[in-house]
Amino acid sequence: MIPGEQIIYLDNNATTQLDPAVIEEMLPFLTDYYGNPSSGYAFGRQVRRAIDLARERVAALLGCEPGEIVFTSCGTESNNAAVNSALQLDANRRHVVTTAVEHSATRRHCETIAKGGGSVTVVGVNGEGNLDLDELERAITSQTAIVTVMWANNETGVLFPVEKIAEIARRKRVLFHTDAIQSVGKIPIRLAGTTINSLALSAHKLHGPKGVGALYVNKRSAFKPFMIGGSQENNRRAGTENVASIVALGKAAECAHAGLAEENSRVRAMRDRFETQVLKRVPNTFVNGDRAARLPNTSNLSFSGIESDAALLMFDRHHLCCSAGSACRTGQVEASHVLSAMNVPPERARASMRFSFGRFNTEAEVDKALEIISAVISKLRAISPSEATREPAPV
Ligand code: PLP
Repeated sequence: MIPGEQIIYLDNNATTQLDPAVIEEMLPFLTDYYGNPSSGYAFGRQVRRAIDLARERVAALLGCEPGEIVFTSCGTESNNAAVNSALQLDANRRHVVTTAVEHSATRRHCETIAKGGGSVTVVGVNGEGNLDLDELERAITSQTAIVTVMWANNETGVLFPVEKIAEIARRKRVLFHTDAIQSVGKIPIRLAGTTINSLALSAHKLHGPKGVGALYVNKRSAFKPFMIGGSQENNRRAGTENVASIVALGKAAECAHAGLAEENSRVRAMRDRFETQVLKRVPNTFVNGDRAARLPNTSNLSFSGIESDAALLMFDRHHLCCSAGSACRTGQVEASHVLSAMNVPPERARASMRFSFGRFNTEAEVDKALEIISAVISKLRAISPSEATREPAPV
């Protein structure tokens, strides 16, 4: 693929295009303003002020105080830091409660915790992707250090009622963390007044650069840092700040905040038209998670009778970018853990594709994508007709 060649990018949950306003804001911090924000002279102090502004902008997007924002290297670090902190706070609490549909940034971390002598309870979901909050409450014990539950699912867009879950955790006197990496910038968030102790976000999901994120830590919550060294980030995350990226995250947060209501109704309408049209043009297609509350930008579809990795390759030839729900690991096609947890039959899970829309998508791209999708799915089904897609025999 040649840079600049026309692609149809419907994979905004994987990452997003940098907003030009973000690039403009960050560039001077890669060129002229290279001072160390911890230095005691004016050349350093002006960089410190830029970081402070970024902190204010992120706090405005989250409805919290600037002092509650800790800049990190990515969403994964933010999630890991919150859970590790909880495990360090009390040696008698080595238990984590999480869900079956988390991103690997939480899932793999929990597996490591379990292997390292901790224990983890994984709460399942129903066919719509929703959690049973009574089951979650029963999973919390006197040994639980933290409950960690994602706000929006990266594969299906299904939203969890994290404010209610945070209340349950508070009643049980347990910390609550949420991986909000897919929801920040896509739905309104106001942390002040909630009992959420910590929240993770990542700049590259909201038109900022890769390799920078933030962790919200409620001002009343105890926190043990993950990175130990200098006193940056008010002693909560050591290491000289990634200044240009932090400035960029601040600008990305400001843009997301300013455009949230308008952009999301536009993106939702686009996603809804896309889904309606796909269902009309491509028979035997299912929307995964459609009966649950969902992000406005995500559409997870199963096209019966196809394998998603084959569809991905064919979409790629048409420069249509989206994600396959299944992955080929060690020579075997594995269905997504999210769809498996939702009890989606394996053949339907292996036929799933995720389309995720964003700020820079146009209706013309949706039209083109619809043409490509119907042509590719028909072709794949013609090559490999299955029970699911074969026309009923005439009687
Ligand atoms: N959590 C969720 C829900 C995600 O979608 C992602 C990225 O895909 C991550 C965590 C990891 O974020 P990062 O790539 O910034 O480490």
